[in-house]
Amino acid sequence: MKRDKWSQTAFFLTLAAMLTVFSVTGAGVGTELPPETLSPTPVESVRPTPRPQPAPTPEPEPPVESEPPAADEWNLILVNRWNPAPEDYELTLKKLNNNQSVDERCYPDLQDMVDACRAAGLTPVICSSYRTQEKQEELFEAKVKKWMDKGYDREEAEREASNLVAIPGTSEHQVGLAVDIVDIDNQNLNESQEDTAVQKWLMEHSWEYGFILRYPSDKSELTGISYEPWHYRYVGKEAAREIYEQGICLEEYLAERG
Ligand SMILES: [Zn+2]
Repeated sequence: MKRDKWSQTAFFLTLAAMLTVFSVTGAGVGTELPPETLSPTPVESVRPTPRPQPAPTPEPEPPVESEPPAADEWNLILVNRWNPAPEDYELTLKKLNNNQSVDERCYPDLQDMVDACRAAGLTPVICSSYRTQEKQEELFEAKVKKWMDKGYDREEAEREASNLVAIPGTSEHQVGLAVDIVDIDNQNLNESQEDTAVQKWLMEHSWEYGFILRYPSDKSELTGISYEPWHYRYVGKEAAREIYEQGICLEEYLAERG
């Protein structure tokens, strides 16, 4: 009898211990998810989709806190979706031959870069440069409309559009330091641009003239803009060299300098 009672107690103690272990591991407070839940499991959808459902893209938070550059570092001004261009931003424009214009301070280096590209036997075309707020609004609105035509509501359409065209007030084109350059043989602003001879040359040499490929394919989360193998931003030769050599984007460069 005594012995039975003892084994009964032991049984319950063991059971209690097992339950405790189970509940601790099962509750998983702060523990990592099992690996299989990290990769998306393909689920076959049998429900008809009434209209394209955008992946819920949350309003992005600034992924890198960057120190604003000093006032005299005009070439390092950070303009992105989290840092609009100052409304009273002043610049002097220099007109290019083809009706484009840029901040006159980056003009000599831009001219050198274009000359060198031509000397390599190529034909770069600057298809976009300085833009007014109105022009940026027009471009943004056109992109929003495209998404709304696909069935998205205004808010969703604006969110999708903002990954492709900077929200008015947040485009570097508005401070005259950005140029969109394409190859005369392919003037499409899409990823096919990266295979053109002009882009290959620019990606290799633009830093020598103080320009960086501003929206690389692997930095979209930090820049807030999708890959654009045609958009170059003037940052000056010193910064461009470091950004190029380290394979970082402007946001990371500014955060590094602290
Ligand atoms: Zn651009």
